[in-house]
Amino acid sequence: MDDIGSIKRRMLLKGAGAAVAVSVMGCASVATSSRPRVVVVGGGWGGLGAVRALAASGKVDITLVEPNDGFMSCPLSILYIAGFKPASDFQRSYSVIDSLGVRRIKERVTAIDRSGRSVKTATQSIPYDFLVLSTGLEYMEEALPGYAAAREQLPVGFRAFEQAAVQRQVAAFIEQGGNYLITVPKPPYRCPPAPYERACLIAQRMKEKGTKGKILLVDANKHPMPPPLAKPMETAMRELYGAQIEYIKDAEPKSIDAGKKVLATSKGDITFNHANIILPMRAPGLIRQAGLGQRFADITLPSFQTRADKNIFVIGDSQGAPLPKSGHIAFGAGQQVSEQILATLAGKYKEADLGDNVTLPSAICWGKVSTSQAIMINVTSSISIGDPPEVKYQVDPAANAASSKGAMEWGTNMWNAMLGS
Ligand SMILES: Cc1cc2nc3c(=O)[nH]c(=O)nc-3n(C[C@H](O)[C@H](O)[C@H](O)COP(=O)(O)OP(=O)(O)OC[C@H]3O[C@@H](n4cnc5c(N)ncnc54)[C@H](O)[C@@H]3O)c2cc1C
Repeated sequence: MDDIGSIKRRMLLKGAGAAVAVSVMGCASVATSSRPRVVVVGGGWGGLGAVRALAASGKVDITLVEPNDGFMSCPLSILYIAGFKPASDFQRSYSVIDSLGVRRIKERVTAIDRSGRSVKTATQSIPYDFLVLSTGLEYMEEALPGYAAAREQLPVGFRAFEQAAVQRQVAAFIEQGGNYLITVPKPPYRCPPAPYERACLIAQRMKEKGTKGKILLVDANKHPMPPPLAKPMETAMRELYGAQIEYIKDAEPKSIDAGKKVLATSKGDITFNHANIILPMRAPGLIRQAGLGQRFADITLPSFQTRADKNIFVIGDSQGAPLPKSGHIAFGAGQQVSEQILATLAGKYKEADLGDNVTLPSAICWGKVSTSQAIMINVTSSISIGDPPEVKYQVDPAANAASSKGAMEWGTNMWNAMLGS
């Protein structure tokens, strides 16, 4: 990195006695010092991986900018959406982060000033030496004409806290019956197994409650995603929910009329009573407006540094490398990037020292097919410098109880790593 000299000069100029108390959202006050400043935007899976690793070092000043009061997990929250568990099982407070001396700002970043090295919120400008962006995704509403005018009626529910709207919709469907439509976009989208998992758990609920109706799972792909999951997932859907799920493959949504409740697809019109439209996804506008990439951030691996700016790292689902969009990977990338920043500051990070084949953060995804069975998808990846990453999948041949138990243990371990004491 090219700016370590200037960071060190600033540290010398300010001197060790320059600490100033500032007012902070979420904790009474934190001393700012002359230490290098790392700003992390987004308190989800990736951002928390970065914050925890940086805080453990005690070597940098950390600011976390996140508009939500607390954290909610998307992984496993289908158990809440389908009515099996309360929302609180998937929510955690940020109090541990506050206790670690992290300056937490409960606002949204509206712009990045790359030349001035600061991020802007509605009320302040926050300077950084290193910026870690883990802002997740936004939905490409314009991809489906008719969607934007009716977004309240057609929730996606693939971002934290939005699950509540889908949960209410599912509860109404279970009560009233009819056609419950779920669409699946083409990749890349967040957690490829998630739409199929959603269909399965809602179908289980239908069976238990005797709901009269169907889940219409309209997939723009030719088979369940990711490809190694196709066989076990299709088998589970057919064997467990043959009467509840109608799986319509290779049908690309063209437009939606929320008033008439009709989805036009490449395979014809489909009528529905309730619709969970899972739209194509991209990085939030913040990243594109800062010139860091088009649909997703343009980064280099294994560093996760943006090509446009070496002091900015993009991790998690906003980054555009061909890695699965998984919370596990986001968290691991947060840890990795933090170690890199710390090693850089210590003058110890050199890409040439990494060797020929570098292991990238790994992923575990769970396709739950019922409350007691799941399919595990284990993804490992590595990169030889200069080549695209090599991604390897290991998938259960069939849904099973051990993976279902493993999923719940994995969730608890990850949430503890993010927000446990
Ligand atoms: C239904 C479902 C099931 C899933 N199951 C699994 C699974 O089994 N295993 C797995 O590994 N992954 C799973 N995932 C994927 C996982 O949730 C995501 O990959 C992960 O959340 C990505 O982390 P992130 O940090 O990029 O984004 P997020 O966790 O979404 O965090 C982004 C944060 O950034 C904040 N933010 C956004 N814009 C701004 C801004 N301008 N200023 C400040 N803050 C901002 C948001 O408020 C949010 O808190 C699942 C996802 C879904 C939807």
